[in-house]
Amino acid sequence: MQKKYVIALDAGTTSVRAMVFDLAARQFIFTAQQEVGQSFPQSGWVEQDAGEIFFKAAYVLNRCRSAVDEREIAGIGIANQRETVVLWDSETGEPVAPAIVWQCRRTSAFCASVPPEMRESIREKTGLPVDAYFSASKIRWLLDHVPAARELLAHGRLRAGTVDSFLIWRFTEGKSFVTDHTNASRTMLFNIHTLSWDGELLDYFGIPASILPEVRSSDARMGEMKLGSVLLPLAGVAGDQQAALFGQACTARGDCKVTYGTGLFMLFHTGERCVRSESGLISTIAYTLGGRTCYALEGSAFNAGSGIQWLRDGLGLISSSAESELVASSVPDAGGVCFVPAFTGLGAPYWRSDCRGLFSGITRGTTRAHLVRAVLESIAFEAKELAVCMEKDSGFHLTRLKCDGGASANDLLMQFQADVLHIPVDRPKERESTALGAALLCACALGLADETSAAGMREGEKLFLPSPDEERFNALYLDYLQAVRRSLL
Ligand code: ADP
Repeated sequence: MQKKYVIALDAGTTSVRAMVFDLAARQFIFTAQQEVGQSFPQSGWVEQDAGEIFFKAAYVLNRCRSAVDEREIAGIGIANQRETVVLWDSETGEPVAPAIVWQCRRTSAFCASVPPEMRESIREKTGLPVDAYFSASKIRWLLDHVPAARELLAHGRLRAGTVDSFLIWRFTEGKSFVTDHTNASRTMLFNIHTLSWDGELLDYFGIPASILPEVRSSDARMGEMKLGSVLLPLAGVAGDQQAALFGQACTARGDCKVTYGTGLFMLFHTGERCVRSESGLISTIAYTLGGRTCYALEGSAFNAGSGIQWLRDGLGLISSSAESELVASSVPDAGGVCFVPAFTGLGAPYWRSDCRGLFSGITRGTTRAHLVRAVLESIAFEAKELAVCMEKDSGFHLTRLKCDGGASANDLLMQFQADVLHIPVDRPKERESTALGAALLCACALGLADETSAAGMREGEKLFLPSPDEERFNALYLDYLQAVRRSLL
C-alpha cells in the first residue's frame, strides 16, 4: 500500500524544522521547530554547535513521527543551510570544533591571497568566485588551527562535510558518509561539470579526498534512519535555496524564484547548460534528478528583509514588519527618496563588503512613509539588478517570477516587484518552498513523484500583474542605480 506522508527536514541557519507532508492532500499537516544558537567569538566570525543541530533535528523529526501513524511515513527528505562546515570524529560522531557557518568571514584574508590563475581555474571548475562564503577555506582553516583535527586525520578518523553530511552520518550511525551534488557544488572543491571532487583544488587547499563524503544525486537514497519503531529511508537532499527552487516547481529553463528573507536569493534555472556568469553571479547545480543534471545562475543580496527589521528595531518607524505595507501605501511613491541596503556591504553582482548603506534624495518634505517606502522599494530594485544580470548572462528572457520568504507576504512589495521587472510575480499558497522542495525530492527519490508531478504539487495563491507604465518604473530604477553608485564610491 502506498504510504501517505513524507517528512521534510529543513536544517536552516536560525532554526531546524521538520514538517509532515501529506502526499494526497498536497500540503503540510504538521510542523515542529527548534531555534538553533549561533556564536560570534570575534568580529566577522560565526559558529554553530553541530551537536545541537543534530539533537534538535532528531527532536523535531520525533515530534513529526508522533504526530501521525509512523507506519504511514514513506521517508525523510533534507534541505539544509549551505557551505557551513562540520569536522567530526568517525569513531564517536562528535564534532571536533564548532561548525564554521556560511556567514563567517574569518578566511577572507586567505581568500584574498589566492593568485589570479588559481581564481580563474576555481571559477571555471566550480562556478564560484573565490570567497570566504564557500566551504573550502573553512575546512583549510580548521585543519590549520584545530590540533585534534590533525590528530584524527593522522589516524584516518577525520570526516568533513556540510550539515547534510553530518546529519546523515549521525542519523545512520556512521553507515552513510554522503552528500548531494547541490551541497557539494558550494564547497569550491567540486567540479560542477564532471560531478567529482577536483584533485587540483583539493591539493591547493590541502584537503585530503579521504575526509570528504561520497557525492550522490539530489534524488538518491542516502541511508536509513531509525525513528521510533520504524526504519525510514533518508532520500532526497538539496541545499536550501536549491530545494526552494524545486519546491517552486522551477524545473524548466528560464524558471526563476526569489526568496525574500533577511537577505534575498534569486535562482534562475538554466536547464542542462551550465551558464558562466560574466556579471558577478554564481553558476551552481540546481539539482540532479532522474539522471539529469540541471544548473542555475544564482544571485544573492546580503540584506533585504533586514532593512525592514532595521526600520522596526533600529529606527522605530514601524512597530511590525507587516506595518511597513500600511505605512508605505499611505504615499503614492517614495517622493524621490532612494535607499541602498548595504548594511554589511553589497553582495551580487558587486561583491563589495566595504561599502555601506545610504538614503538619497531627502528633502524637507520627506516623511516617515517615504522612508519606509524607499526601503521596501530597494528590495525590488535589488532583485531587478540580479534579473538584468541573469538575462544578460543566459540570453533568456524572464517571463515570470516566483516568490517566497517572509517579505513576500507584502502585497505592495510584490506589486512593485512586478512593476519594476515588467513581468508577473507569482506567489504560491505554500510559502515554505524549501521544505516543500525537500518533501518533493524525497517523493521523487522513493518513486512517489517525478519532476512533472512535483510541478503539479505547487498551487498559486496570487498573481501580481505589472502596471503598464513601464517608463515611470524604469526611471525609478535608474535613480536607484545612481544611489548604488554613490554607495560604491
Ligand atoms: P529568514 O529565513 O532569512 O530568517 P524569513 O523568510 O523568515 O527570513 O523572512 C523574515 C524577513 O522578512 C524579516 O527580515 C522580516 O523583516 C521580513 N518580513 C516579514 N514580513 C514582512 C512583511 N509583511 N513586509 C515586509 N517584510 C517582511
